[in-house]
This record gives sequence, structure tokens and C-alpha cells, in this order.
Amino acid sequence: MGDKYLMKTYGRLQMALVKGSGARVWDADGNEYLDFVGGLAVNALGHAHPAVTRAIADQAETLMHVSNLYYIEPQVKLARILAENSCGDRVFFCNSGAEANEAAIKLARKHAKVCGHPDKYEIITALKSFHGRTLATITATGQAKYQQGFEPLPSGFRYVPFNDLEALKAAVGPNTCAVMLEPVQGEGGVNPADPGYLQGVRQLCNEEGLLLIFDEVQSGLGRTGKLLAHQHYGVDPDIFTLAKALGGGFPIGAAVAVEKVAASFVPGDHASTFGGNPLACAAGLAVMDQLINRGVVENAARVGDYFKNKLKEMASRHSFVKEVRGLGLILGMELDVNGGEIVTRCQDRGLLINCVNGNVLRFLPPLVITPGDVDQAAGILEKVLEEVST
Ligand SMILES: *Cc1c(COP(=O)(O)O)cnc(C)c1O
Repeated sequence: MGDKYLMKTYGRLQMALVKGSGARVWDADGNEYLDFVGGLAVNALGHAHPAVTRAIADQAETLMHVSNLYYIEPQVKLARILAENSCGDRVFFCNSGAEANEAAIKLARKHAKVCGHPDKYEIITALKSFHGRTLATITATGQAKYQQGFEPLPSGFRYVPFNDLEALKAAVGPNTCAVMLEPVQGEGGVNPADPGYLQGVRQLCNEEGLLLIFDEVQSGLGRTGKLLAHQHYGVDPDIFTLAKALGGGFPIGAAVAVEKVAASFVPGDHASTFGGNPLACAAGLAVMDQLINRGVVENAARVGDYFKNKLKEMASRHSFVKEVRGLGLILGMELDVNGGEIVTRCQDRGLLINCVNGNVLRFLPPLVITPGDVDQAAGILEKVLEEVST
């Protein structure tokens, strides 16, 4: 029925998931899987986390939606938590990562105008980046495959190789207003920024009067073992964006900015009907409480190290594994061969993983997994790697 009625925007796997609990999901035939896809970095607390389901149920019974014409209590509380735990001061809420980046792009352009630079509108982004699927965000995305067929694209974006500070310096021109980067590229193949790179970018932005925007939609909220990935690098952006994990599975996105930049948005500049609605923000509050106060971020760091070492051991045993990389629980294993068959064979053995760029196995498990879950996943993956190498 799905093949008949859904638009074919996804190459869907032949399975339907119907139930989840913690790091496990079940398909319509009752088969159990260990979920190391984690809703693509959304299910940070696993499936059906009682704190999140309780918060959503309670809020749904109280007040599900009102307009942003009014103050919304859970929204204000969530904005305060985000501001108090980051370099940001003010938050714009929306419903997805693409919308959060769209807000960041509009804010950067508006800020340049407010600062008296009507000619500064260009944003430099990285090759292999991913910023979303709206027209502006596929254009921000430095990968032609997401753009082809949708021309004409909006103007005002320019691309440089990631982790190449000289290339970035050379790309800055009279029209540049901002640089937008993922601290750890996700869809582009799990590529962390090199240690000195982001500091260099920050310094360049300061010298040239450019805003620095970090897209933390995938890397943020504990995924890398710190609340925000840029906190590993000791570099603060002017704007950063969040979405995926923020609602623990409920759709919500956010653009967070420092005061002097946020001040460039005035009433009427930007809006979202559903953005920051009571239900989404109640979910977000429950997620943030778990991340910040219940040791979830620390668990991601600890179990992430354990998992990465296991993957490195595996890599040393199989010559077709080129590299293992990542931070915390966003990990990638680059292969010399196509990863599609490995994904399918893992699924047959009860482990869900995903593959990006054709040859990078990507692991984005819930941040609440245990070393025992890692042992189980690594055991399955090891068997599959042995199978395909013989
Ligand atoms: C997933 C993702 C997006 C897009 O988020 P959507 O919610 O699908 O719009 C943007 N940036 C990054 C880094 C992402 O991983």
C-alpha cells in the first residue's frame, strides 16, 4: 500500500516498524531489532522514554496548541534552558532542521542589512555539508546531488572544502556575510572538524566581520558526548541550529543566537504557525532534563568511546575497512566497498544501521545505550564483516 500511495522520495527498506522501547524496535512480523539508526539521531533517549511520553500526554490534556501571538509557558522555559546551557541568548522555534537553518540564513542576511551592509548576503558553506531540503537549504548544502533538478537555485551561497582554512580565507569576498558549518558533518560521511580548524574559522570571522553559524541539527544535544559539538572545540558561534533530538521524536527545531545578532529580528520578520507549540516544547523540556540532569550526555561520551574502540579493533581485522571516525555516538566506518549489503545483512541478524555516501556505515544509536548493547551490535557487525570478506 505504501508503494501505491506514498511519493517515492525514499528508497524504503521492505519492513514496517510498529513498536519501540529503549534501544529496541519491533517490526510488523514481531521481529526484534537493536536500533543503531535511532531515527537518524532523533531518538536520543531511545523509544517510548517514559519522561517524554508522560510530558506529551500531560501537555496534550492541558493545552496542545495556541498561536505565537501569546506567550507559551513551556516554550519560554525551553528557550531559557537552551540559553542557559549554551553561548546563545535568544531562541526562534520551528519544526525541523531545514527550517532552523532557513531561520539562521534569514537572520544572518537581515543582520548584515541592519548593520548597514545591504550588499552582504553571501554565506560560505562546506562541500559535503548537509543543511536540509528546502530550496535555500539545498543550496546551502555543498553537494550537487541534492540540488540537481531543482534549478534555478536561490543565489548567495559559495562552497569550500571542509577543514581547509586557506580555502575559506580565499573565498571571503565583499558580499560575504556569514560562514555556516557542521562541527561534525553527518550526512557527508561523519567528518569531524579538525582540532584547530574551527578556532581558525572563528578568528577569520572576527577579522572579516562575518557571522559564524554552526548547524548542530545532527551533532548537537549530547550526540558527540558534549551537549553541543562545538563545545569540544572551545569555539562559540553567533548562531547555532538544533532539531533532530530536541523533541525526542516529536518534531521541533530551533535557531539560537547571541543577543546582538538576535536583535536584528523584529516583529514580522519571521514566523512559524506550529513553531514552539506547547506540545513540542513539553517534549523538549523532558528531553533537556534527561540530557542535562540525568547523565545522558556523559553516557554518550563513555559508551561512545567504548564503541569506537570496538569498531577500531574490527577495522584492524578487515582490510576493506578504511577508517573509523566520529565523536561520542556519531560514528562512521568507511569501507573500500559498497555498504548496502552489510546494512541488509545486519538487519537480517537484528541490527539496524545505515550507510551514507555509499560506503560509510553510520551509527547513531540512542544516547542511553549500555556497553552490553554495544557488545551485541558489535557481535552482529563482526559476523557480517566476516561473511562479506569470505
Ligand atoms: C537532518 C539535518 C538537517 C535537516 O533536518 P530536517 O529536520 O530533515 O529538515 C539539517 N542539518 C543537518 C546537519 C542535518 O543532519
